[in-house]
Amino acid sequence: MNNNSTAAVIGGGIIGTSIAWRLAQRGWRVTLFEKGELGSEASWAGAGMLAPGGEVEEGSPFADLCIHSRSLYAAYVEELVRASGAPIDYQECGAIDLAYTPDDWTRLQARAAIQRTIGIVSREISPDRVQAFSPYVRTDSLTGALFYPGDGIVNPRDIMRALRILCGKQGVDVSEHTIVEHIDIRGSHADVNGLSYDAAIVAAGAWSDRIEVAGAPPLPASEPVKGHLIGFDLQLGACPTILRHGHTYLLQRGTGRLIAGSSVEHAGFDREISSPIVERLRDNATPVLPGLEKLGSADVWTGLRPGAQQLYLGRWHGGPLVLAYGHFRNGILLAPASAERIVAEIAS
Ligand code: FAD
Repeated sequence: MNNNSTAAVIGGGIIGTSIAWRLAQRGWRVTLFEKGELGSEASWAGAGMLAPGGEVEEGSPFADLCIHSRSLYAAYVEELVRASGAPIDYQECGAIDLAYTPDDWTRLQARAAIQRTIGIVSREISPDRVQAFSPYVRTDSLTGALFYPGDGIVNPRDIMRALRILCGKQGVDVSEHTIVEHIDIRGSHADVNGLSYDAAIVAAGAWSDRIEVAGAPPLPASEPVKGHLIGFDLQLGACPTILRHGHTYLLQRGTGRLIAGSSVEHAGFDREISSPIVERLRDNATPVLPGLEKLGSADVWTGLRPGAQQLYLGRWHGGPLVLAYGHFRNGILLAPASAERIVAEIAS
């Protein structure tokens, strides 16, 4: 299919790359500009929880989009694997929220009651059932636990590998190590790095508002929100569901790598690893999975979540400029629905 429409996508994270691929499938001629390498920023760092159960507190358009995107995920991964030939570690594993104090338990139950009204399913499970999921979880002082069968995990690095292959197959012109500093809007067209396009899609994550725009109002603010994650090497099956306790979560990749996270830091574009924060993450994770105490961490990394006042997903003031940023903690979850939304808005 070729419809002669052209798009410049700025930013080769999971959001920009998913959009580029979907538009190319519709016959658009797409150039994907990436200042570094595809999938080397937040979309490399993300833990990959697909977890409306852990992220959505109440009904909102954002909650609806999270729930919708979760419902698209199995088919999205299936299509990526089939079309690219690249394996993807995707687990329909559910999640358990653990409460070790009566206050925590009251809070979890209240949240779950609201979530059920918007279609997020959870059920109370006994300490014995928690142990049946994983004998390693601390259950001695558990006051309550909720199981969320709909939550899952994916390895975002696998998704990015598949998307790179598919952009290549679909004829997307992938321009790595190429920064876009300026977009000129001229009527129904956008000039990007010397060429004119029918649409310019800003999917530059935390860096989005650094792009200057002429001929349209300036872009809404974006902000990097740093997060640390720790990886441990543990026998497979030690953590077969996502475990959550307060702000701490644990999940295990299909390789056995167990990931514990995460911090939320407003520290600009700094990516340094901070030993006190790593220690704090460890201290928060070990009461949930005491076996971690004896293990040295195999890996520690940071990433910059794309924060913004809200999620921007659609045309900016009706012109050829299109925004796709502000996914913050949920860009991996939201990738399929974000691409679907943008394609529906500009390509149908
Ligand atoms: P990015 O992946 O950051 O991509 C933006 C790209 O734009 C970058 O590659 C950058 O180099 C490029 N770029 C920037 N400026 C320019 C320019 N001017 N010209 C050209 N290129 C440019 N999400 C979940 O759903 N589940 C999770 O469990 C989860 N855990 C997380 C844990 C951590 C520690 C972190 C950091 C994030 C986590 N996230 C999670 C969030 C998720 O990773 C992000 O929301 C998602 O990756 C955002 O994707 P993106 O494509 O918008 O941004």
